Amino acid sequence: MTTTTDLSGGPGLPQERKLVTAIPGPKSEELMARKLAAVAQGVGSVMPVFAQRAGGGVLQDVDGNSLIDFGSGIAVTSVGNSAEAVVRRASAQLTQFTHTCAMVTPYEGYVEVCEELAKLTPGDHAKKSALFNSGAEAVENAVKIARYHTGRQAIVVFDHGYHGRTNLTMALTSKSMPYKHGFGPFAPEIYRVPVAYPFRWLTGPEHCAEEAAAQAIDQIVKQVGAGNTAAILIEPLLGEGGFIEPAKGFLPRIAEFAREHGIVFIADEIQSGFCRTGQWFASEDEGIVPDLITTAKGMAGGLPLAAVTGRAEIMDAAHAGGLGGTYGGNPVACAAALGAIETMRELDLNAKARRIEEIMKPRLRKLAESHPVIGEVRGRGAMLAIELVEPGTKNPDTKATAALAKACHQEGLLVLTTGTYSNVMRFLPPLVIGEDLLHEGLDILEGALTRL
Ligand SMILES: *Cc1c(COP(=O)(O)O)cnc(C)c1O
Repeated sequence: MTTTTDLSGGPGLPQERKLVTAIPGPKSEELMARKLAAVAQGVGSVMPVFAQRAGGGVLQDVDGNSLIDFGSGIAVTSVGNSAEAVVRRASAQLTQFTHTCAMVTPYEGYVEVCEELAKLTPGDHAKKSALFNSGAEAVENAVKIARYHTGRQAIVVFDHGYHGRTNLTMALTSKSMPYKHGFGPFAPEIYRVPVAYPFRWLTGPEHCAEEAAAQAIDQIVKQVGAGNTAAILIEPLLGEGGFIEPAKGFLPRIAEFAREHGIVFIADEIQSGFCRTGQWFASEDEGIVPDLITTAKGMAGGLPLAAVTGRAEIMDAAHAGGLGGTYGGNPVACAAALGAIETMRELDLNAKARRIEEIMKPRLRKLAESHPVIGEVRGRGAMLAIELVEPGTKNPDTKATAALAKACHQEGLLVLTTGTYSNVMRFLPPLVIGEDLLHEGLDILEGALTRL
């Protein structure tokens, strides 16, 4: 079924997969040659096609191929590309003013985004926010705030954690290649402890939560000292580490330990937040109320905006002028965020994310039964994944994962891989994608798996 309902990307962008050339087509190949000549090779690309338009559940390339989008620009365009309310509000703002610098003369949009964040994030305590440009910048500022508030220096992070690519956030990130390799030295006073990864827990998944929490806490107490620890920083559903859902019970235990010792508990919800998992924030799943929460990716419909939100007394610790940046909370990005939040509410995108899980998870589980290369199906809402292993073992099958992704790309399905062992295929469709496209994408995946 083909719908031409305007889910933006411009009027009448057909919601259909269509291949009119090989992938990549000649125009993309020409542009790729220019990219290779002009752009640093460190800036890679997952697919060798150049984008022309995107909206709803499709991305159209410069050769006229229409791909089904299971990536959302890495969990960013949850409301779709060029969503109506995002375009309307951001365009109106563009005609008013593009920048004054919030630290020079503030504007209402900045305040309104912070008011929304106070309402939407977990907990009914008094909250305040500060806005930044990127996820990494938000994480850096959460660390600054936690250190200032506690007067302590140590930051505890977890195996498989990902927090960004700036110097401090590289240190917080666990995976060497490609994020850290060759880019050291890294920032000091960062300590990494185990996370409850049920699929890979040596004694099996049953006691994973309590054993991992006990190990993590023992390491913090013995190796760092609870009294030296400013913050514990964790993604409630780990993204780049492989869409790992910490075993139930792990997060509440760690949050409780933090509370007992005056340690700031920071949830990095940059990938998992804003309706992605079928809730406003993944922390809600186990009733976690973080002291601070970092957000970015999905919050502004594709424009660069990030935030730290948290307990007013912690957020207010730093002296006036201690937090900021030239572009942080840019007025156009704030307008876009208000448009994205409006869209999330109006279309009930939490329900849409849960519906995506309802459609995709049973089909992925069925695929796992007939394809032993799939070791596990996991995730929540529209943040789902399959972990690929050598059949009959838990050895990561990185090669099969790369081959599967490539086969999907050739058929016009945009998928991304992830994971510490690069053996996880993740599914992050825009939450506004049509159900017919979801099914068609899964058909392509099934065909590619069968041929693998
Ligand atoms: C993407 C991501 C970041 C970094 O965000 P950028 O905007 O790329 O700097 C940090 N934490 C998590 C969990 C992420 O997924």
